[in-house]
Amino acid sequence: MKKIPLYVKILAGMLLGVLFAMIALQFTGGVAFTKNWIKPFGTIFINLLKMIAIPLILASLIKGVSDLKDVSRLSSMGIRTVVFYLFTTVFAVSMGLIIVNIIKPGYAIKEETRTQMLASYGVDAVKKQQEAELQKKAGPLKFLEDIVPDNVVKAASSNTTMLQVIFFALLLGVALILIPEERARPMKSFFDSMNDVILKVIDLIMKTAPFGVFALMAALIAESPGWDIFKALGKYAVSVVSGIAVLLFVFYPGLILLFTRRNPFQFIRQISPAQLLAFSTSSSAATLPVTMECIEKNVGVDNEVSSFVLPIGATVNMDGTSLYQAVAAVFIAQAFGMHLDLQTQLGIILTATLASIGSAAVPGAGMVMLVIVLAQAGIPEAGLALIFAVDRPLDMCRTVANVTSDCTVATIIAHGMGKLEHPSITERS
Ligand code: ASP
Repeated sequence: MKKIPLYVKILAGMLLGVLFAMIALQFTGGVAFTKNWIKPFGTIFINLLKMIAIPLILASLIKGVSDLKDVSRLSSMGIRTVVFYLFTTVFAVSMGLIIVNIIKPGYAIKEETRTQMLASYGVDAVKKQQEAELQKKAGPLKFLEDIVPDNVVKAASSNTTMLQVIFFALLLGVALILIPEERARPMKSFFDSMNDVILKVIDLIMKTAPFGVFALMAALIAESPGWDIFKALGKYAVSVVSGIAVLLFVFYPGLILLFTRRNPFQFIRQISPAQLLAFSTSSSAATLPVTMECIEKNVGVDNEVSSFVLPIGATVNMDGTSLYQAVAAVFIAQAFGMHLDLQTQLGIILTATLASIGSAAVPGAGMVMLVIVLAQAGIPEAGLALIFAVDRPLDMCRTVANVTSDCTVATIIAHGMGKLEHPSITERS
């Protein structure tokens, strides 16, 4: 029998969860049953995701940074790559923030539904408000102070200080590059292998996703029967997709036109096989071989550039993911009735950029790393339950943006270095 793809199972879990809740609502005691016997499995699933976040940051960032060994060797290409990747990512997060502040998807949830939600997720709104007040009173450089841990073990013991763990991981990665290669090798292979193991753990966790989603959806609906949640989720999905559309149809074509003077539509056609594969696999890593082929054969980028820029891009450059993380974080905050001031939103630009760099290029990784953005901005992580159901289709879209961004930057860099040939004969005709 043909294997059923995971996303179909997740979708089925979601639909069955909705169905289950609708039936439970018809019976007295149905809601209590869902709360006592079904909801805990949803909580366990979210806990699994949160559990893996810190080890994932450590392994993937240390591996990612130490893989950049070539940055020093190929310094000019390396620096250009890093600058362009950062630029596109920061643009994407800002785009996401603008759109989510215009559409305000979380405000589609009515006050009474919100109160019920807060009660059922056990979110102490007053405490959060006080924390926010404290944050406001802090000096302008408080966020910088907060990034540097005074004790790394303490930092790693709480999901709310993940930025500190990221800082430490980046520092370790850089130091690994700076010491002689043979001295760095044992630690590097340790973190390489740890990274593989963590990715496997995520794979295993994702296998339980259909059940997790079933429980989350059932609890979500049974406990807050307001249909406004679905309206809000719809608006949230529209916010993410429209942000990605701006990237795909305006931003990247604009960059191609501006920097290479090539026809952006032709460029999109040339990389479309990679985009389609990204959409269907939700993984920039799985798409990488096709991305390389499109960029070299169809676009005409020299292998010297593509073999350096694209693999790094697949692991660290995730515009779609960062945009999504910003939208999701603000959406969850809105849904819980929190007001995010400018400083917190600027903080989201930083954390979403870092979180997208740390996200693995596999399906669903962006959502695991979203925990960091939420924790850092003081947004209840329980909100993940809210967005999980629609995550897969959004993952497919954001992966297309991730891959397109890698292709765009590779083409621009190749052009700048005189390594962009004319497109192949077949493409030119
Ligand atoms: N699936 C994305 C990628 O591989 C990462 C994510 O946002 O989950 O590019």
